[in-house]
Amino acid sequence: MFAMEVDTSDLYFMEEALKEASKAAAIDEVPIGVVIVCDNQIIARAHNLTERLTDCTAHAEMQSITIAQDHIGGKYLNRCTLYVTLEPCAMCAGALFWAQLGRLVYGASDPKRGYSVHTPSLLHPKTIVKKGILEDTCSKIVKDFFYAKRI
Ligand SMILES: [Zn+2]
Repeated sequence: MFAMEVDTSDLYFMEEALKEASKAAAIDEVPIGVVIVCDNQIIARAHNLTERLTDCTAHAEMQSITIAQDHIGGKYLNRCTLYVTLEPCAMCAGALFWAQLGRLVYGASDPKRGYSVHTPSLLHPKTIVKKGILEDTCSKIVKDFFYAKRI
């Protein structure tokens, strides 16, 4: 039998990020969710709130960074993993640089607004990146949201 390439804890925490994305969908926000994990514990959860807060910077990542830094009592997240359902945009990748994030795990890629399309070097050079965890589910929740908007 092949060794599982996917870490089961990555799957577990991405499921938690998906729960956050569902919370966003339930209030008519673009369904993107995040959890930040430190020492195997979730220290921050957030979902997109740009409509609710009338703030285009209220991406799930931005909020979760603030929550995690507050929890840690420091501005560096170098011992943390951030799980996000959709590839971060350039703004969030820039913020993750300043936070010196240890590890980034994302589900679906974002070929339009994802940071890696134009500037993969936006992240901190030490940040380890893993993508494609529960990719189909993470992608479907966003597609379903926009599909429902059109009908
Ligand atoms: Zn963003």
